[in-house]
Amino acid sequence: MTEPFPILGEQTVRLTVHLGTARANYREVSRRASPAAVAPVVKADGYAQGMDQIALTLSQAGADTFFVARLAEGIALRRALPKARIFVLDGLLPGTAPAFVTHRLTPVLNAYDEIVEYSAFARERRVRLDAAVHIDTGMNRSGLSRPELNQVAAQSRELFSGINIALLMSHLACADDPSDALNQKQLDRFRAALALLPAAPASLAASAGIQLGKDYLFDIVRPGLAIYGGNPRSGEANPYKLVFKLTARILQVRRVEVGETVGYGATFETRRPSVLVTVASGYADGLTRAMGRQGRVAIAGCRVPFAGRISMDLITLDATDVPAAELTRGAEVEFLGEHVSLEDAARTAGTINHEIIAGLHPRATRVYVED
Ligand SMILES: *Cc1c(COP(=O)(O)O)cnc(C)c1O
Repeated sequence: MTEPFPILGEQTVRLTVHLGTARANYREVSRRASPAAVAPVVKADGYAQGMDQIALTLSQAGADTFFVARLAEGIALRRALPKARIFVLDGLLPGTAPAFVTHRLTPVLNAYDEIVEYSAFARERRVRLDAAVHIDTGMNRSGLSRPELNQVAAQSRELFSGINIALLMSHLACADDPSDALNQKQLDRFRAALALLPAAPASLAASAGIQLGKDYLFDIVRPGLAIYGGNPRSGEANPYKLVFKLTARILQVRRVEVGETVGYGATFETRRPSVLVTVASGYADGLTRAMGRQGRVAIAGCRVPFAGRISMDLITLDATDVPAAELTRGAEVEFLGEHVSLEDAARTAGTINHEIIAGLHPRATRVYVED
């Protein structure tokens, strides 16, 4: 499993995933969130790290509840984890209720109509089905609106005759900024909503919410980013460690004179005799052109700037300041990992760590290592 680049994957980008680090991050989240239970979010193919491998690893570490976004992700995860409880955040698209039952998945019901449909389906089948109910407290993205909440509360007895409320949840809009007044407002609204509905376990915090303090923990927390080692609060020390390293290999080393231009659009011009390296990766691998503008990568631990634009499959770097001995054909370049954090890459690309990690492309060969 840890063999060097197999011949066929020799020129591909490689995503090395450290499962032991995912386990350590899970334990750190558990410590911070205790006594709340930790239900990892493994949507979007486990934040591009491989949903099955991450979920199996965390399951062995003690996690028994997981969140995915799509129904199809839930169906796939059920095959990997026959016993886990799996919540599907998208909830109920019309007509999908039978699939939830077949695959023993729990929908997160996000609107009045979804509750009505699932409840009718359960009564028809004369069964009682588990579901989570999502209450909007300030995102206006999904979850019961305030009028819907009142409607559901008023009809609670009949609506929940076929439904066992497994979880009452909401989602924070500004949890990455502890000074934002919306956090407390959402907490108050969530508590008020809980008082209107039948008693059930509650969940409010994702990765950033866990750092807002005990009031925000409730019974279950739903970390995604933290599990993979992203920093929930950019600008502060990261309590977690990045689970992966994204690397590619040097195809060519070129020595060029002053005044040469590099790449499409000739946007980079050498101001000194320079050493350029051409690397086998590009925006087809999820490395965005915006990352290249002021970004840095690492060769043998030395930080190296991009030279010119990122192309689809190739990247040129200005490696003039790297010791020549490190610049060999086939040598490894680190795009994200120990020396280049998600947050560094996000800052230079003008985006956030979530978008960088979710954008990593499956063209990369994934290699799993234990620690
Ligand atoms: C994606 C998501 C999470 C996980 O968010 P992170 O910031 O990655 O921890 C939790 N809850 C909901 C509703 C989500 O959509």
